[in-house]
Amino acid sequence: MSLKGKTAVITGSNSGIGLGVAVELAKAGADVVLNSFTDSPEDHAIAAKIAADHGVKARYIKADMSNAEECRALVEKAGQCDILVNNAGIQHVAPIEAFPTSKWDAIIAINMSSVFHTTAAALPMMRKAGWGRVVNIASAHGLTASPYKSAYVAAKHGVVGLSKTTALETAQEPITCNAVCPGYVLTPLVEAQIPDQMAAHNMDRETVIKEVMLERQPSREFATTAQLGGTVVFLCSDAATQITGTTISVDGGWTAL
Ligand code: NAD
Repeated sequence: MSLKGKTAVITGSNSGIGLGVAVELAKAGADVVLNSFTDSPEDHAIAAKIAADHGVKARYIKADMSNAEECRALVEKAGQCDILVNNAGIQHVAPIEAFPTSKWDAIIAINMSSVFHTTAAALPMMRKAGWGRVVNIASAHGLTASPYKSAYVAAKHGVVGLSKTTALETAQEPITCNAVCPGYVLTPLVEAQIPDQMAAHNMDRETVIKEVMLERQPSREFATTAQLGGTVVFLCSDAATQITGTTISVDGGWTAL
């Protein structure tokens, strides 16, 4: 299946899942707009490599997803937005009574409110183009909770709810909106935690991954960024035309427990 002629805007896509999603969409033929809050030569080099590897147009646009105007400006600067993937996200772990207000505000803004702002900017473009896909990268924490992740769990549940409302408001149009809910995904961020976990638990790599890090993921395997990207490509396919307002878990069985 080909997404040739479509333009995808992926927030928070200079690393991890967002980058994996951008690569899979480019492989499927879509032009891609990458984003983060930085503006380094490396950011633009990532876009140039995707363009060279996959023969698509790829651009990098700086925009801070904690800022409402910049969220909307990202979509407007992209000029065309057939596929919107809301992926930017941060985490902070602390008990509620010790959770800094600034961290709460930042997580709600970046992980949840940005989805509202980019969607508001993208829907008119999708309506004009007569086709659109909104894919929100939520989390297993959009469906279940863990202690000490109050802001993240609240934001991701909010993203799942907002995905349903977006789907209902576009239900009679050729536009869909869904949330993808990953379990533990092997991103550079997670990879970097493995040596510390090995030292802390005095375990080898395989054991610390399976027994400690993936304790809640019944498959005891990480999901990969390419698998997340493949799920997004599927949601952009004709087969997914009637899939809207729902969640797709990519979590090795986490939410079946
Ligand atoms: P990551 O840190 O590699 O990626 C996060 C991305 O968001 C980066 O590109 C970062 O630059 C960007 N970002 C952060 N703050 C931003 C801001 N203010 N403005 C614009 N961009 C910003 O992490 P990841 O694991 O790839 O996470 C991507 C998404 O997937 C997040 O929403 C996260 O909650 C979700 N997720 C990740 C996992 C996992 O196990 N890795 C599991 C479930 C859900």
